[in-house]
Amino acid sequence: MERIRLGNTVFEGRNNAYFLPGDRPTLVDAGVATDSVRRDLREGLAAADHEVADLEAIVLTHWHADHAGLAAELQAESGAPVYVHADDAGIVAGDPDAIAAERSIRERRFDEWRIPGGPRAEVTDYLDGHDDLRGGRVDVTPVEDGDRIAAGDGELEVVHLPGHAAGLSAFAFDGERGAGREAYVGDVILPKYTPNVGGADLRVDRPLETYLDSLARLADLDFERAWPGHRDPISDPAGRARVIAEHHRERTERVVSVLDEHGPTDAWTVSAHLFGDLSGIHILHGPGEAFAHLDHLVAEGVVSSPDGEGRYELLDADPDFDELVAVPETKR
Ligand SMILES: [Zn+2]
Ligand SMILES: [Zn+2]
Repeated sequence: MERIRLGNTVFEGRNNAYFLPGDRPTLVDAGVATDSVRRDLREGLAAADHEVADLEAIVLTHWHADHAGLAAELQAESGAPVYVHADDAGIVAGDPDAIAAERSIRERRFDEWRIPGGPRAEVTDYLDGHDDLRGGRVDVTPVEDGDRIAAGDGELEVVHLPGHAAGLSAFAFDGERGAGREAYVGDVILPKYTPNVGGADLRVDRPLETYLDSLARLADLDFERAWPGHRDPISDPAGRARVIAEHHRERTERVVSVLDEHGPTDAWTVSAHLFGDLSGIHILHGPGEAFAHLDHLVAEGVVSSPDGEGRYELLDADPDFDELVAVPETKR
């Protein structure tokens, strides 16, 4: 397997694509649709003595443009099927209904979070301005948890781990060192920072709980090594899942203390207390993250949101945080 480094400066930075040579040359993730990333990808394939036309399968971890952007043109050039989880298939395909549905949820959430007019216009401009990075329409082959895809000289097993995105999936395989399973994990876990939950895919219901369940499953799978969508390989994926869950427990404590100190308020104000002033994509990610935690606290009975209009009131200033945010056990 060859790791191809993509110099994306638009989103989280420094994406990875992975190329699996062999009987069925396969690419895992495709990078954002910009000229420099297009060049990075071609150079990476060339370094592995291949070209785009050789690809027989393209596998995407999730719909975000920094992972799916170039899929359409790679498919046009190679004729390769593009596999992505069914929950993200519509958006990757460019289906107008799927895209309109995501937009309407976005508008509803922005109302609920009470994002003021200025920042709201800024983030909407930002999102619309980056639409072309998503690339063209793709003929998608949807996959589900447990499906197996022939790739390289072996196969990839789909492991659905939603949270950061509704369809986010890892692809598990037997490691080259014969020492157990490894996986391409997209943005399920990242080595340096915590993947955004709540703002990165507004279609996810109960985003924090959904993500914590995925972290628990990932810890339980106890992969030998994980190959993330950004930055370097993760040598203890279960340990990393645990650290990220702990981070969310601390953040839940902070959200409770914000409500305790400042009284009932909305997701935008909680976000301001947590993250300060925001610009660009962070206007989406900040209140999204605050919302994910508030929504979880409401479901657990710690916070009430009686009018359903985005106002949150603390009911219990001293809840059991260990119970609210379960940190997975690790075996090592
Ligand atoms: Zn992502
Ligand atoms: Zn990403």
